Amino acid sequence: MLLPFDTHVHTCYSPCARDLDGAGQPLASPERYLSRATELGLRAIVFTDHCVEDPSAPGAVPFYESSGLGVISALRGELAGFLLTDLCQVYLGCETETMSTEWVGITPRAAANLDFVLVPTTHYHLPGVPQPASFAPADVAEHMLIMLASVVSKGWLDSVAHPFCEAESLIGDLRRIYDALDKAWLTDILGFAAHNGVALEVNGSSVTSVYEPHYALVYREIVQLAKSLGVRFTFGSDAHDARNLGLTPEAETWIISAGLTMQDFLTPAQLQAKRGGM
Ligand SMILES: [Zn+2]
Ligand SMILES: [Zn+2]
Repeated sequence: MLLPFDTHVHTCYSPCARDLDGAGQPLASPERYLSRATELGLRAIVFTDHCVEDPSAPGAVPFYESSGLGVISALRGELAGFLLTDLCQVYLGCETETMSTEWVGITPRAAANLDFVLVPTTHYHLPGVPQPASFAPADVAEHMLIMLASVVSKGWLDSVAHPFCEAESLIGDLRRIYDALDKAWLTDILGFAAHNGVALEVNGSSVTSVYEPHYALVYREIVQLAKSLGVRFTFGSDAHDARNLGLTPEAETWIISAGLTMQDFLTPAQLQAKRGGM
């Protein structure tokens, strides 16, 4: 496996990862992930449950109602009960939300207590998330760049979750959106990302998803530009079920096709070290 780690993993502490097996047990329990990580030979995983610091704040996205910082402490408490081995390091981060260009769900203070903060900018399917003026390609393209620019300007955020990705049944053909992207502006934004140390995620689910059939093609172009500008990357499966942990052969093939090597990716240890320096 090209990358022996996974930095985007949802446990059953995320509201969207609560499916049960035939015996009524959660498919996304931390315990199941740890055992799957050992089977796969992963060296590190980062749990990134959905979390915003103040879900009851006016204007907060309703999906996060039960996803305050308590989620992180509950997961931390559960992990403390496990006998963790040196074989696979376990880190605690979160996938937060962009409520506006000025408001991201995790402040620098809360981020200091996390190993990793992953920020999505394109959860357009969630009511209350900032939306483009319309789903015409030019409007989506402009909005995606506005939101991306707002996140890469905030240096306490570590990586942008599944950049430019959303179901094409909602936002339209990603090739048309890519055509409408202002490439000079995109280049500027990626340059800022490199300068501020905000990474872009390669999301294993997104690059192989049937819901975004053109994402693999479009995001490859963006990744190549980003790499040429010095942007670093994180890799995450976005698993919501322990069976989907880690890098699949299909996602690995995509990474190689995009010209990325292991050195382009930040490891969980590097992410944690960056946090320690804040
Ligand atoms: Zn997401
Ligand atoms: Zn996710």
